Amino acid sequence: MSRIPVTILGATGVVGQRFVRRLMDHPLFEIRHLAASDRSTGKAYEDACAWRLDGEPYGGLRQQTLRTAHPSEALAPVVLSALDSGPAAEIEPLFAAAGSFVFSNASAFRMAKDVPLLVPEANALHLGLIETQREARAWKGAIVCNPNCTATVLVMGLAPLHQAFGIERVFMSSMQAISGAGYPGVPSLDILGNVIPFIRGEEEKVEEETPKIFGRFANGGVEAAPFAISAMCHRVPVLEGHSEAVSVALRGNPSPQQVAEVFRNWQGDPRVSGLHSAPAVPIRVHTAVDRPQVRLDVEKDQGMSVHVGRVRACGLLGIKFALLGHNTERGAAGASVLNAELAHAMGYLG
Ligand code: NAP
Repeated sequence: MSRIPVTILGATGVVGQRFVRRLMDHPLFEIRHLAASDRSTGKAYEDACAWRLDGEPYGGLRQQTLRTAHPSEALAPVVLSALDSGPAAEIEPLFAAAGSFVFSNASAFRMAKDVPLLVPEANALHLGLIETQREARAWKGAIVCNPNCTATVLVMGLAPLHQAFGIERVFMSSMQAISGAGYPGVPSLDILGNVIPFIRGEEEKVEEETPKIFGRFANGGVEAAPFAISAMCHRVPVLEGHSEAVSVALRGNPSPQQVAEVFRNWQGDPRVSGLHSAPAVPIRVHTAVDRPQVRLDVEKDQGMSVHVGRVRACGLLGIKFALLGHNTERGAAGASVLNAELAHAMGYLG
């Protein structure tokens, strides 16, 4: 079977490089174009980009010329976008109008009413918003977003509980890796030996995006889930991996044992299992009292599973637990590729 050509927008950045690595041996997709900003256009990939990952440098594409991030230069049926939000707001619709399916990491369209905000295991059916979007915007293609990385990890940790019991309230405090700020990101003199209790826009994104993802899809729209959520976000000197301390009020006040059992048995949406980038086990439940830990756990399953530990009673909301996920894989590159695989499996890519 011939593979589907893909354009990577933002190919030189933290997330873009992970797209390149993920697509090197992908059974469904192959890289056709690499694109970035005017600073990089016309240069060989190795001259425009400081490769920061292990594995084959530049995904074997050292000499590939970077193109302008515009459909006239870099059109392909599938576009994986690792653009910053500003450029994404202008560039992604040009590709969607020209017929591409754009799978975006940027925040520009996440909260648009007609754009799916997808965590495939939790809300695969929201892909149905594509029909609404195409009607409303007269696009031949579409835009599908993955959530903010912190929200993605939180949604993975909450989805089994929402399905089994129903969520009433959530409190989450995060400890987020510096790779979440892109490259070169937070200056070393600010973050080494330090914790910064502010990440611009992060708490708002988690609080807005999570209810949309858990919303009910009906009549071509999504009605946001009604539960309240409060997020406190911190930057910590960790390279990859967002840790989250979660407290949650659940209907029926289940015991910690019941909650742990639900985590252990959860498989997520059946349309997802078996997709190339889907982890065999979406949630890995740890029983050791000092797990999950970033250094020991975050790279498991190519960063696509989410880790839960220390499920216990909470004097405030009922249940609390520790959560860990890979921000640049489960929360970014791997998430978009999984979204694209799901869209293909559900027949949207033709
Ligand atoms: P990054 O390392 O700063 O990379 C940004 C990329 O965008 C670079 O390839 C850059 O190209 C390109 N770019 C910048 N301005 C452009 C323009 N005007 N036209 C075309 N290309 C342009 O950022 P990142 O961390 O990879 O993040 C990319 C996106 O993913 C952001 O929207 C971010 O919020 C989102 N995201 C990131 C994470 C994470 O953990 N890092 C997680 C979830 C979502 P040049 O090299 O040519 O400047």
